[in-house]
Amino acid sequence: MKNKYQLDPSSKKFVCPECEKRRFVRMIDELGNYISDEFGRCDRSNSCGYYKYPEKSDSDVKIDLTQKKVAKLADKDGPPSSIPQCYVQQSLKGYSINSFYQFLSNMFTKQQIDNVFDTYKVGTSKLWGGATVFWQISIDFEVRTGKVIKFDNLTGKRIKEPRPLMTWAHTILKLEEFNLKQVLFGEHLLTKFPQKTVCIVESEKTAVIMAIKHPNQLWLATGGEAEFKAEKLKALTGRKVVIFPDTDFHKNWAERSVSISKQLNLNLVVSPYLVNCTIALDQKKGYDLADLNQINMDLSMLIPEKQPSTNLNLERLMQRNPNLFELIRVFDLDAIEK
Ligand SMILES: [Zn+2]
Repeated sequence: MKNKYQLDPSSKKFVCPECEKRRFVRMIDELGNYISDEFGRCDRSNSCGYYKYPEKSDSDVKIDLTQKKVAKLADKDGPPSSIPQCYVQQSLKGYSINSFYQFLSNMFTKQQIDNVFDTYKVGTSKLWGGATVFWQISIDFEVRTGKVIKFDNLTGKRIKEPRPLMTWAHTILKLEEFNLKQVLFGEHLLTKFPQKTVCIVESEKTAVIMAIKHPNQLWLATGGEAEFKAEKLKALTGRKVVIFPDTDFHKNWAERSVSISKQLNLNLVVSPYLVNCTIALDQKKGYDLADLNQINMDLSMLIPEKQPSTNLNLERLMQRNPNLFELIRVFDLDAIEK
């Protein structure tokens, strides 16, 4: 026989009878009526843990008529679920098995990496022998979830064969009826750095690398091509924002920027820098700013040693200063900011 009562599948939370936080999921009968408010389960499973379910023999369970009935099945318009902060804190260690941390160790100092991991809240999961957790913390400091990704230690590329090694913190924690509402990776830093120009990239990895290389800007990531959408950019209201799409989605993001700007009354500036830098390459391969080091090396090899050119000065400068592309990039960014 099917259980007569179940936990409310909508995301509505009530005040917990034990800890008095608004994290209590009540129970409903098969018609969607709430039953008395002692029955249910507290969301704060590790800090409170209160739960009480009606006995099968309970014939005197009362229906609570002061509450509106719950519409059948999950109500995705409900408030977002969140993960207790303690999980974030617990994950901020174990970097010796964190493949993204190990990859960055070839490029940056320990202090630089520790600093950016702490600022952005990048943690470690023991999954797959050491994966990276990119926590998504909202501007209100709610932990909405964490994206868990396994990278290759040496190349820093995501492991995609034989299957993509990627999952979510709320999936690992087996949080039931979790109402996932993603936010930008790094969104919680908007209040910490109110003056910085916000730069939007697609991947969390790129945001972290750029944050080390260009700390004067605030780098946030959508976490996916399709995640560049108004709902996710709401927190940027009132900010100066520059968008750096991957080369394969430059046109698409540029078009979407126009409608999102209107919708949110923002002024999203799409940087042409990356497409300009990769003009000689197959842009369908989807280059991003983190790929530029490699690209710069390739391009500098393309420049002939002795050939008359109107750009001779630039060439000489390039030979003396291999970081020129880096400088141009910064200037480009500065030009946008003015
Ligand atoms: Zn509680």
